[in-house]
Amino acid sequence: MPHWSSLIREIPDFPKPGIVFKDITPVLADARGFADAIDAMAAPWRDAVPDAFIGIESRGFIFAAALAHALGAGFVPVRKPGKLPARTLAHDYALEYGSDRLEMHADALPPGARVVLVDDVLATGGTLRAALSLARQQGARVVGAAVLVELPELNGRARWDSDAPLHVALQG
Ligand code: IMP
Repeated sequence: MPHWSSLIREIPDFPKPGIVFKDITPVLADARGFADAIDAMAAPWRDAVPDAFIGIESRGFIFAAALAHALGAGFVPVRKPGKLPARTLAHDYALEYGSDRLEMHADALPPGARVVLVDDVLATGGTLRAALSLARQQGARVVGAAVLVELPELNGRARWDSDAPLHVALQG
């Protein structure tokens, strides 16, 4: 197990009773832990660096921006509704109760740009699937996804609707 994985802590009953939340903030606070975690996430893309890493609000921003800087790629944010100032594309997706929406700037990337989607945790897979649809709608070519931690018991991987690789640094 990598050193940084021991820094991830479990917070019971957050954000709701019954949920055990993986808190990755201690990894970020540890200089070596953060650097090693980014190295682990970056490794699969070193030989074919994408045009941009797309970070999903909010913790996905941290990892996608660090990956973009480390590998010499761009960074594009996918955000919650109403946060981006210019014209946006939106994708609505179902939650257990209700629905949610992700947005990205319509002109964030040139058509056919090679992109990798980035988030901190893969749980049920709904968020990553929504970001995949949004990036495709934008005309980008999604060459993969990079996630720090996958929660395998929730089988979010099954919702990854792409032949492109979904790389996780740690199975949690
Ligand atoms: P999913 O859509 O169910 O896969 O949930 C993934 C999204 O929720 C990601 O954007 C994560 O940041 C967040 N998330 C879900 N569970 C956790 C967790 O235990 N720790 C941190 N983030 C989580």
